[in-house]
Amino acid sequence: MYDAIIVGARCAGSPLAMLLARQGQKVLLVDRAEFPSDTVSTHGMKKPAVAHLSEWGLIDQVLASNCPPIHSLRLDVGPLVLQGSAPPIPGGEFDIAPRRYVLDTLLAKAAVAAGAEFRECFTVEDLLFDDGTVCGIRGHARGGASVEERARIVVGADGRNSRVAQAAGVPLTVDRGAFCCAYYSYFSGVPSSSIELYTRPGRQIIAFPTNDDLTMVMVEWPRAEFPQVRSDIEGTFMASLDLAPEFAERVRAGRREERFSGSAELPNYQRQAFGPGWALVGDALSHKDPILAQGITDAFHDAAFLAAALGEAYSGVKPLDAALADFAARHMECSMPLFEATCQFATLQPPPPEMQQLLGALLGNQPATDQFFGTIVGTVPMHEFYAPENLERIMQAAARVA
Ligand SMILES: Cc1cc2nc3c(=O)[nH]c(=O)nc-3n(C[C@H](O)[C@H](O)[C@H](O)COP(=O)(O)OP(=O)(O)OC[C@H]3O[C@@H](n4cnc5c(N)ncnc54)[C@H](O)[C@@H]3O)c2cc1C
Repeated sequence: MYDAIIVGARCAGSPLAMLLARQGQKVLLVDRAEFPSDTVSTHGMKKPAVAHLSEWGLIDQVLASNCPPIHSLRLDVGPLVLQGSAPPIPGGEFDIAPRRYVLDTLLAKAAVAAGAEFRECFTVEDLLFDDGTVCGIRGHARGGASVEERARIVVGADGRNSRVAQAAGVPLTVDRGAFCCAYYSYFSGVPSSSIELYTRPGRQIIAFPTNDDLTMVMVEWPRAEFPQVRSDIEGTFMASLDLAPEFAERVRAGRREERFSGSAELPNYQRQAFGPGWALVGDALSHKDPILAQGITDAFHDAAFLAAALGEAYSGVKPLDAALADFAARHMECSMPLFEATCQFATLQPPPPEMQQLLGALLGNQPATDQFFGTIVGTVPMHEFYAPENLERIMQAAARVA
């Protein structure tokens, strides 16, 4: 009997297993994948995610993987370009973008080092129920027979198509549908030291430096264009980069080192967070378009919130249901502002007139630009930045300069 069985061992599952094992709990972590392995995902990680890695004692290992820290953000919306850096938070002084096969392996190893039992190549087929309450899993190792394992809680950290959520019949609580499709690849010889965002009508280009001197470049298009994009990925990709000519020239001077990866399955939803004997974290709980690179950060937050809640419940500080309700509330409070912003950005529509006015007013106002970037990165609360008196200050400062 385990204290927790965690299904899925990437950004959400492994940190949760690590944190619970560090509390002394008996944890089984399973994943059908073999590690190291990649997954269809780019990997921009913002300052709040770096702060978690610092707190968990893992950031030095990420940096040692030959992955550069990123100190600036460049937002090019065509008529104007803003460059700056979101305000830091303790432990989160830079952004970083480690390859997923690097990050996920490191996280799974940290869970094992903390004492979690890890079974890779193990597929969960179904949940076990005892009088309506989830009490374990049924699954099999690769080529092996079905086995059953029991726990006080089963956590679905098993991504967008969560088997745990399906088996427990978990409903969506927010469903905004899918807006975009995306393709990305890795280029050598493309000097880049910032996160670069190029916003063009119906297109979003995202680039950042990653391991081994490579630059990740991703383009997003409206989802309806997916058949056309897929029929000529390279041609459509390069034609989209041409909307940002200086950047396109830099990419053309480099060399594509890997095949394109992509997806048209980029839904925006929240699911119910817990129920009798189960809880969800990461993409299983909440998925969003990658346009603001929020998924890994949210997965880390979920892991930290759920570990704290289970720690309280198992040490008798709170009843389990009350602790899980706190976890769900903290998840929503933390996740919703950037979830809403993501849905707005993912329409790929030009910014509304008030936003265009605001972006214009930020030009030349570095402190306000950095604060604005803080809202995208998650180090400045939206309600603080968008408070009427703050916006008024920014507009007045711009008027004085004009
Ligand atoms: C194109 C694209 C680009 C993205 N770019 C970014 C970005 O730049 N920054 C960012 O923060 N986020 C990005 N994301 C989002 C990010 O990938 C996710 O938010 C993140 O991977 C969530 O982690 P997770 O651990 O919840 O789920 P996942 O990473 O999906 O891991 C789930 C794990 O569960 C395992 N699993 C599933 N079912 C079973 C089963 N039945 N039995 C056993 N194991 C199972 C899988 O093998 C997998 O290893 C992007 C996503 C996409 C699609």
